[in-house]
Order: sequence, then structure tokens, then C-alpha cells
Amino acid sequence: MNIHEYQAKELLQKFDVATTRGRVAATLDEAEQIARELGDIDIVVKAQIHAGGRGKGKFNNGFKGGVHVRKTPDEVRDVAAKMLGQILVTHQTGPAGRLVNKVLVAESADIAREIYFAVLLDRATAAPLIVASTEGGVEIEAVAAKSPEKIIREPIEPLAGLQPYQARKLAKQLGFESSQVKNAPKLFEGLYRTFIAYDCSMVEVNPLVITKKSEVLALDAKFNFDDNALYRHPEIAAMRDRAEEDPREVEASKHGLNYIGLDGNIACLVNGAGLAMATMDIIKFYGGEPANFLDVGGGATEEQVTEAFKILIADKKVKAILVNIFGGIMKCDVIAQGIIDAAKTVKLSVPLVVRLEGTNVERGKQLLKESGLALIAADDLGFEPAWRDRSPQLVDVIRSDRFRIVSEHQRAREIQTLGRATCDLVEIVLFLQQRVRRDVFEREPVFA
Ligand code: GDP
Ligand code: MN
Repeated sequence: MNIHEYQAKELLQKFDVATTRGRVAATLDEAEQIARELGDIDIVVKAQIHAGGRGKGKFNNGFKGGVHVRKTPDEVRDVAAKMLGQILVTHQTGPAGRLVNKVLVAESADIAREIYFAVLLDRATAAPLIVASTEGGVEIEAVAAKSPEKIIREPIEPLAGLQPYQARKLAKQLGFESSQVKNAPKLFEGLYRTFIAYDCSMVEVNPLVITKKSEVLALDAKFNFDDNALYRHPEIAAMRDRAEEDPREVEASKHGLNYIGLDGNIACLVNGAGLAMATMDIIKFYGGEPANFLDVGGGATEEQVTEAFKILIADKKVKAILVNIFGGIMKCDVIAQGIIDAAKTVKLSVPLVVRLEGTNVERGKQLLKESGLALIAADDLGFEPAWRDRSPQLVDVIRSDRFRIVSEHQRAREIQTLGRATCDLVEIVLFLQQRVRRDVFEREPVFA
């Protein structure tokens, strides 16, 4: 889950991370009023959307830039009028852009230097990592591509946390002067504590600025939360802005489905994240593009399957649907009934390919047959015989001790690679899942 900049700054302030004074406004009157309260100073007006690159963005009405500095409450009102209710397009929003419903009106910082600073979860080491650069304010991806030596990486041992010597080292590497080397570590520690306290997967401050008066401030902030930990933070869950999210994903989350919208046109409905990844990989392998990731899980009800199916059918981009179910805990007849119920309420206008295997498969196939639905039954997904020969060897490799899984991300990659080369997909996916579960307990220390 993401939040807006103004919300991120509220969280940072709780951990003594210095930001600028200001508040969010949804109307022109509010924007003007906040500007008056801030007093006779330079004021910055910033469009609030869940995407970066606002500074260099462009509104559909032709107005350039989602970040502007003004001097008087009247001027603040004028610039807010050009932003509120308008679509802002940035390099992160895609051409469709995002509707601006709110603007942040804040004290403008007198910037001397802009720095990039982020705490994120490094999937490769399964530990927090600080990424920083003296080249702040600009796109960090561009810095990484052009001058990788300017990216500083400081891994954090999760049990020990950010050590004072690490904070001092970072301050030096980032070129803080000796007078600032005192304040900077306090700010770094505040950012790290925020990251841990809210179960973030990323806290990114770009830019972190040094002002002409040598203050160190977080001028922009982007947070990413681990959705699986949201139940521990009701105050964060309350910050959710559904208007910023993919409507397909909003609908799916209402029904407890693991759904991620993608840009392709082949919808897939699968049970189990590993099998879902492998299915998407098969689609890509054969030159298709998946329209979504959808894991209906092991314990989905008929209603959930029906809702899942409705989301797939309602998606205008979808040109075909592939259902790939391996019935373990999930029963094939439940899936079949869900599909039939969905097809009753929403007209099925695209080809539907269904592959069912496992528990209650005969009953499931029977139900589909009797329903009279025009669907294509598939018994295998086109694995080539040549792959079968390589398969046993692969199974040996993953069973050997050389094969370790240190992160979800890596697991996904392994499964993709394996998915390409093996026919015994389901067995491997299940084996990997088991292996990952065990790995949680057997993992070697990261910094051993
Ligand atoms: P982003 O473009 O969406 O990442 O939005 P930012 O909040 O990072 O703002 C973009 C740029 O606008 C920053 O890199 C700064 O150069 C500038 N900017 C942001 N806030 C202020 C401010 O308070 N005063 C001044 N003078 N410039 C600012
Ligand atoms: Mn920024």
C-alpha cells in the first residue's frame, strides 16, 4: 500500500524527522487559508498523487509542473486552481495521468543541496538496506544507470539496527559538513525507525535537503508498506486512498483475493502464488501477455471464485481467460461452480480455457460439461516432450543443498526459470513452497 506525501510527512514527524510546516488542502479556500496561517514566507504548493516526478510533470490543461513556489495567499490560490481537479501526467503515472484531489501547502525550503536517501527491504539479503546518493532531487534510476559509483549502499543487520557509526559514515559519504554531521545521523535514525515501526518495504526521501541555514529536512517522502502487516497498523490502513488504486485491485481486495492488475490481455485465474507465477510465465513463454496475477488461494469459496471471475470478465483489455487449477485443498468442483455462477450474472464474451487437475477433478469437469458453457477444456498446457528428459535432473538440483531460497523474489525467479524447463511443474511448485516454509526456520544468518 502507498500513501500521499503529506501523510508520509505526518508519520516522519512522529519519529523526529524534520520536514517543513504545512497542511493539505482539498479546496481553493483551504489552500489560501493555510497560506495565510503560514505567514509572510515563500510557500510551496505540491500536487498530491501516488506517483513521483511531479516537479517535471504536466497537467492536461497545459499547466507545467506539480510543484510550485509562490509568495502570497492569492498566488497560492491561483496555482492551486490550476492543479485541483486536473489530471497530472508524470513519467511514473503513464499517459493516463492521475486526478489531483488535494494539494500540500507548505513552507518552502531554501535549498542549498539535494540528497537521495532511502531505506528499503533488500530481497537478495532479506535485510534492510540504505541507499543514498549526493545526486538527489533527480531520478535515482538515471543516476544508477549513468554513474553507479554515486550510489551508496549500507546494509543493516536487522537485529542490531542502524548503528551510530553507520549513520556517521553515511553523513560523511554524503558530504555533510562537520557542523551538520551531528544532525544528519539523528535524521537517518528517525527514518530507519519509521521504516521498522510501520513494517515498510520502502521509505524514500528524494530530496533530503540541506538548507542555506544548514538545516537538514525531508522535503519529499514516498512510503511503501507490507500489506500483510497492515493489520498491525490500523492508523496506516486508514490512510488508504482508494481513488489512487487500480479499481480492479480495489474490487479484488474487498473479496480477499490476491490480485495484481497487469497490462496484457490474457486473464488468468490460478490457485497458489507459485502456480500463478508459473502460469504467467507459460503465457509469456508462448508469446502472450498476462492481464493479471490472480491467486484464489487454497480456501476460496464459490462466491470468491465468482467475484474473481467477474473482475476478469469486466476488464475491457481481456481477450481470453485461462483458468489453471491444481486442486489440493482447493477443490476443482468449487472452482467449476464459481465459474458457472459468474457466467450466469456476467455474459462471457471472450474464449475461456479451463485446466483442472487434482481433488474432485471429475466432478468439476462434469459440472462444466453440464453447464453448457462454451469453454475449451485443456488437459495439458503444451509442455514439450524434450523438457521431460531434463526434468528429473532439475528436481535433483533443487533437492540438493546448493539450492537455497533467501527471498520471495528469488523464489519467484527460480520458479520462472524452472517453469520454462520442466514438465513436472506442479510437483516442483509444491516442493518449492514447502522448501520456503522450512527456510523461514532454517535460514542462515545474513551476515555470517
Ligand atoms: P517529485 O517531483 O514528485 O519527486 O516531487 P518533489 O517533492 O521531490 O519536488 C520536486 C523538486 O521540486 C525537488 O527536487 C525540489 O527541487 C523542488 N522543491 C520541492 N519542494 C520545494 C520547496 O519547498 N522549495 C523549493 N524551492 N523547491 C522545492
Ligand atoms: Mn521527489
